[in-house]
Amino acid sequence: MDADHGRAPDGDGRRTAAPTAPSAPDSRRNLLLAGLPDAELQRLLPELELVDLALHDQVLTRDEPIKDLHFPLDCVLSLMASAGGGDQVEVATIGYEGMSGLPVFLGVATGPNDAFCQVPGRALRLSAAGLRRFLASDGALHQSLHRYTQATMVLLAQNVACNRAHRTEERCARWLLQTRDRVGADQFPLTQEFLAQMLGVRRGTVSLTASVLQAAGTIRYTRGVITVLDADALHRAACACYDIVQEQFQRLTRAPAT
Ligand SMILES: [Zn+2]
Repeated sequence: MDADHGRAPDGDGRRTAAPTAPSAPDSRRNLLLAGLPDAELQRLLPELELVDLALHDQVLTRDEPIKDLHFPLDCVLSLMASAGGGDQVEVATIGYEGMSGLPVFLGVATGPNDAFCQVPGRALRLSAAGLRRFLASDGALHQSLHRYTQATMVLLAQNVACNRAHRTEERCARWLLQTRDRVGADQFPLTQEFLAQMLGVRRGTVSLTASVLQAAGTIRYTRGVITVLDADALHRAACACYDIVQEQFQRLTRAPAT
């Protein structure tokens, strides 16, 4: 299900807000947009729509033309790779540090990945045609997306290393810390299904891992809602990948090395 304009209420009677124009401060919540000069951001704003993404909204469909890119503000998207036979494996998450639809920037119209919203929240939507038009002006966004491409390659490589080298509990702490950063709050909804996909483990293992962190007083996990009780303890419990990846993405807001 795509995040369409003026979507009807869902089964719970909840209505997803229709897209609205974003403000400059809202837009700067996304790291890729945060570093743009004021004049460039003002030129980009009319092209952006502020949308609310609900759980499982699909923002990319593999092998289909990428029509829109999404810059998360406080939602989390999940990039999935096909493992054959209908199985899908999560390969990366995308939060306020990034954007879905990187293939468009790299000059490719379609990609091999599906992407879904896994933690509901707000995002800025930009059409693929709008991005191409905007990039033709060769402003700071162009450089920012180059650095984002590099950071994404580091993230994917680090995820491979993490999956092979680090214990489930360390990886779980890393993902929870990362999700807390992206949502910008100590409490957020997180389904067991998502956590299991993120960690590449069975749901039973997720319960066990969460209960270890819970017993240590680090988090509380009830009815699909995570509450981070002690962020420092969660950081100590996380593997080194958290700091390595965070440092890469923080570079997005800095001027490129000369
Ligand atoms: Zn790790």
